[in-house]
Amino acid sequence: MRFWTVPILAYHRIGQPKGDHVPTVAPETFEGHLRFLARRRCQVWELSQLAGHLIEGRSVSRNSTVITFDDGYEETCTVAAPLLRRFGFRATVFVTPTEVGLPGFMTWEQLRAVSKDGLAVGSHTLNHTYLPLASPQEAERELAESKRILETQLGCPVRILSYPVGGFTPEVQAMARGHGYLAACTTNRGTTRSGCDPFALRRIKMTDRDRHPWLLAAKLSGYYDLFRRIEPPS
Ligand SMILES: [Zn+2]
Repeated sequence: MRFWTVPILAYHRIGQPKGDHVPTVAPETFEGHLRFLARRRCQVWELSQLAGHLIEGRSVSRNSTVITFDDGYEETCTVAAPLLRRFGFRATVFVTPTEVGLPGFMTWEQLRAVSKDGLAVGSHTLNHTYLPLASPQEAERELAESKRILETQLGCPVRILSYPVGGFTPEVQAMARGHGYLAACTTNRGTTRSGCDPFALRRIKMTDRDRHPWLLAAKLSGYYDLFRRIEPPS
């Protein structure tokens, strides 16, 4: 098998900035990112598909990409999903069941709609808990209950996890595997590579400043780590 790298793009909210702490990318910027991927004829994978290839040691075509959203903001359904649909791209959204239906977050109805329409749903734990500080019992519950509730509500298997605030330990990784997850995303920066640990997937944080094609090309390339060292501070 040849060596491969795939950028997993990490978004939070797509929409107009609300002046809060949530990393937000404007719809026009996001649309520009999708247009960039379409122009480069990128194959946009669902994360569970990529995880399957990673685990089984299969090759992945050049120009493959994965799109993810953390936290399940309402705009994932109202703004991002229609744009993804227009470009025919699939994506994965990580949801915290106890936040579903709260102001600013998707409702179960919206989640069911997007999950039938190109967005796979993964767990972001039950209460958005920073797992390294949770007791073992609490961490087990966060991983197991979130998966169970999402699967019951959505009627489909939930096999992918995103650690809240990127926090994980070897114990947490073992628990996630034990509860039937296939893979888990961190907030560690970089591309995902053949042979890497499926329970420590690196991602590329996308921001509203990423507007120029050369910048996107650099971010998505395997040289991202090198690029990051010269990225100006925000
Ligand atoms: Zn989060």
